[in-house]
Amino acid sequence: MKDTRSKELYERAKVHIPGGVNSPVRAFRAVNRTPRFMESAKGDRIIDADGNEYIDYVCSWGPGILGHAHPQVIKKVMDSCENGLTFGAPTEKEVILAELISELIPSMEVSRLVSSGTEAVMSAIRAARGFTGRDKIVKFRGCYHGHSDSLLVKAGSGALTTSVPDSAGVPKDDTKNTLVAEYNDKDSVQKLFDENKDQIAAVIVEPVAANMGLVLPEEGFLEFLREITKDHGSLLIFDEVITGFRLSLGAQQYYNIKPDITTLGKIVGGGMPIGAYGGRREIMQMISPDGPVYQAGTLSGNPVATAAGIETLNILKNDPQIYERLEQKTRKLADAAREAGKGHICVNQIGSLMSVFFTDQKVRDFESAVTSNTEQYADYFGYLLDRGIYIAPSQFETMFISNAHTEEDIEKTCKLAGEALCSLDF
Ligand code: PMP
Repeated sequence: MKDTRSKELYERAKVHIPGGVNSPVRAFRAVNRTPRFMESAKGDRIIDADGNEYIDYVCSWGPGILGHAHPQVIKKVMDSCENGLTFGAPTEKEVILAELISELIPSMEVSRLVSSGTEAVMSAIRAARGFTGRDKIVKFRGCYHGHSDSLLVKAGSGALTTSVPDSAGVPKDDTKNTLVAEYNDKDSVQKLFDENKDQIAAVIVEPVAANMGLVLPEEGFLEFLREITKDHGSLLIFDEVITGFRLSLGAQQYYNIKPDITTLGKIVGGGMPIGAYGGRREIMQMISPDGPVYQAGTLSGNPVATAAGIETLNILKNDPQIYERLEQKTRKLADAAREAGKGHICVNQIGSLMSVFFTDQKVRDFESAVTSNTEQYADYFGYLLDRGIYIAPSQFETMFISNAHTEEDIEKTCKLAGEALCSLDF
């Protein structure tokens, strides 16, 4: 497979862009390869600058649940562009999107649109602190909530991939109120509540953790978080930037738990930059201009982005079987990997999310996730990349399956993934 043009572009990129990329994991450093510069994408395929075509299981890290360039979404975006790119004034589309969000995720009675997941989470934390009058927050080791200062503590995703789960440049004072518990470990949460009585504003969690590879919540864990936060007058924040509209409409419906605040990103923008945070009316009334918690954005609620978001959510809403189809396809991939991996790997899967860990341990938290052999992951990745299958260039990310993945492409992937696993020296 030719990669001359990608290599040329990467060399040029490195001159004026840090590491040659605008988000670290894209640099392929964890898999020792040259990043592929992409040119176009349609359905389940993505095409690079050398003309190579891949079946894409990154799906832009989650937004692409309908596949790339869905014709209905593209049409709405084009129509919206004709009417102007940004006004910095309210529009009907913002109202429609807020109504849709609250219809599909009822706990988000009132929501505010922002432009990224990072911004959504950062603002949600501020709202929780403003509402409770408390400063401390609890997060989980290996969960990623964007790159705002107070949350870059024991973080997953790119932070974990590049081996710096605590970032340089973050003042100690900015993280002194961030307490870290272990995912799926109730005792570790209980201990923090015992030690910090009446000081914890919120517990923030990825209801399904997808930034240390995919790690599922064990039975009772999310229920426990709901109870302990309620008992202590703290808020429960579900960071559904990945899971929102991906596992059924939200993880909260999947698990039947109502958080106080929810953060969204990715799918809610249908491929355009949108994030959102929202929750109970009394909490969201704290936000400016209704209340004293300040938060604003020049491009927030952008008309082109909201056009893409509304159309995407409407397509999902009007096709209730979609989640079952996604689950079936993904289960097929997971079963094929399990069979070929013969006990040397751990495959975690839920809905259209999946991870293959190169460990014989059951991956249920950060500690077990990092037992994975990342060199084997790199070999697995390389084998697939060279044969036209594009998966996340890091062990500590997740595979995303879209509605556009055809049965034929799933079969092809099962076969190649099986070969890739059999080629490894376990
Ligand atoms: N929260 C979660 C759970 C995420 O997965 C991400 C990004 N992958 C973020 C927040 C940050 O979103 P963004 O990259 O849009 O800032």
